[in-house]
Amino acid sequence: MRILKRAVTLLLAALMLAGALSGAAAEAGTDGPAERRETGLEQFIVLHGSPDSPRVALTMDDCTDREIVWKAAELCRKHGITMTFFPNGVNLHPKEGKGWREILEAGCEIGSHGEDHMALKYQDRVAPELMVFQQHLDETLGEHYPVRWFRPPYGALEDEQGSMTMIMYRIRQCGYDHALLWNVSYMLDARGAFEQARNGSIFLFHATEGDLKCLEGLIPLLLEAGFQPVTVSELFGFESPRPGGEKYVYDRKTFRYPRPDPGKWPQDPDS
Ligand SMILES: [Zn+2]
Repeated sequence: MRILKRAVTLLLAALMLAGALSGAAAEAGTDGPAERRETGLEQFIVLHGSPDSPRVALTMDDCTDREIVWKAAELCRKHGITMTFFPNGVNLHPKEGKGWREILEAGCEIGSHGEDHMALKYQDRVAPELMVFQQHLDETLGEHYPVRWFRPPYGALEDEQGSMTMIMYRIRQCGYDHALLWNVSYMLDARGAFEQARNGSIFLFHATEGDLKCLEGLIPLLLEAGFQPVTVSELFGFESPRPGGEKYVYDRKTFRYPRPDPGKWPQDPDS
């Protein structure tokens, strides 16, 4: 019931914000308005890609067990596909930088699942969760990696009052145009997961033995059926981010949320 309630709340919020955030996708990349309609990036909350293309995105959250993460990346190399990993910052360590760099070299993508896997209930937690993650990722890779996608832990965006407005607003101020969710998360076995595959599907996995086994069976089934597993960026027509440049450092004392562009967010909750 809670899950159903959350799904309904998310859907309502997505619909309500669709108008207010119509400029968001334009800023996220080079897409023009026509492409935006096609890719489904009109809304802040994104559940899937375009139903008109056989591309799908396999994603892996948390990345608690890195041995599983490396094996998933190996699967991608073996099948010539790509996927997106959403680690938490606490699961990133500079001594494992080589493994993460190899993931990027394989064409895979890294997104943010926040620093501590904390539900973003309090708006003053948003910057630490997102920006400390960026710092830890850059330390791990040894250079800056401009993360494009944020996946909220638990898919949760409501503040204490049950409203999403402020949390979404803060996420945008941290430089993320969307909260990326998923539309396939039943992963008991490869066949069950495959039966839910549609054009544009975003699959949610975690770094567990069971999910790895599911992926091992699912990828050949997807390829055989003509689906093309790609990174989340590729699903929406962007090139995957590439590392380069100075590492980001988060300074809690001096960090200020930027003032919003009034054209993109007509109602400034700070004013
Ligand atoms: Zn998670």
